Amino acid sequence: MSTSGTEPNEAGPGRPGGPRRPLPPGTLRIGSIAGVDVLVKSSWVLVAVLIAVVLAPRVEQVQPGLGAWRYVAGVAFAVLLYLSVLLHEISHAVVAQRFGLGVRSITLHFLGGATEIDSESRSAKQEFWIAVVGPLTSIAVGLVALVAVPVTPDGLLRLAVEGLAFANLLVGVLNLVPGLPLDGGRVLRAAVWQVGRDVHRATVVAAWGGRVAAGLVILWPVFVEVVLGLPADLITYLVAFVLAAFLWSGATASLVQATLRRRLPALQARRLARRVVAVRADLSLAEAVRRAQESGAGAVVTHDGDDRLAGVVSERALRATPEDRRPWVPVGSVARSVDDGLVIPVDLAGEDLVRAMGRTPAEEYVLVEPDGTIYGVLTSADVDRAFEETARQ
Ligand SMILES: [Zn+2]
Repeated sequence: MSTSGTEPNEAGPGRPGGPRRPLPPGTLRIGSIAGVDVLVKSSWVLVAVLIAVVLAPRVEQVQPGLGAWRYVAGVAFAVLLYLSVLLHEISHAVVAQRFGLGVRSITLHFLGGATEIDSESRSAKQEFWIAVVGPLTSIAVGLVALVAVPVTPDGLLRLAVEGLAFANLLVGVLNLVPGLPLDGGRVLRAAVWQVGRDVHRATVVAAWGGRVAAGLVILWPVFVEVVLGLPADLITYLVAFVLAAFLWSGATASLVQATLRRRLPALQARRLARRVVAVRADLSLAEAVRRAQESGAGAVVTHDGDDRLAGVVSERALRATPEDRRPWVPVGSVARSVDDGLVIPVDLAGEDLVRAMGRTPAEEYVLVEPDGTIYGVLTSADVDRAFEETARQ
């Protein structure tokens, strides 16, 4: 199934979110493995019902007289199937963690699963191993189940083991198709990256692989009918359409990301900095604003008595303070104290900048020179704006 880095176009560079993000609607957290949240989309219920309905006649054949319980057996099989999908995703997560990449979550949805990794692979080798381990895990699970079939007692259990063998081998092999968003697409990207030393071009190649795969999938039912001369039913067309749409949209998203990432280095903290005025934290807010306006500064930082940087004024808190109150409010009370996360090197750019901001989501950051002097203030709103302009070019 697909693994994805946290792409800057998902959340905007200013707010990739903390470790406990609010879950998207229709998502349930069922637990965590190796520190990684395991989430289930409500669309999964649809799959469980679908599997139960499709399997019901076969269950009835193997174990007659179950009545409505045959649907329960179907749902139980769906759970088992998704446990094997979970194994596939965990293998991606574990290898990514081994390479020192943070893993945010594993999500099970109606087309399988996805592992969300904090950042992109740093080398083609990492990319290859993180991707290939998923299909290999599925194929291994499939082979184990296949070996277990003859020694499993006849009945529902045998049916389940057969189903697991078939489904996992299918998932493993199909995921090796060389097109994004499939794991095989990431393997292809790793190979092109290794040979050409250009990760962006590698993404474009692998994404086009995904689009070609989508085209072949949509033509599949036609191929079955016209070339093989077999009847293709409505379900075949429907499945082909859903799969092709999944592949096409995933491939397209990868293409967009490749374009954005190529332009991301243009995002430079120094160029986006606002001029800053530094005042003592006990100065009145009105006076601080006056001084900022006088010197044409776009931001205010506060220092304590010893001239040590103490905080950065929150524009939001400032706006929320009525004009007639400002002479009586110390500027320090609308400043966010600078812990380490709010002070970032002024020379950061591109992905490094986005990552530094992502570690401590905030609206204002203090930019410092290598020697520690304050250069200016960076606001996430300015970064968002610059990012959107870059993306439009
Ligand atoms: Zn996978």
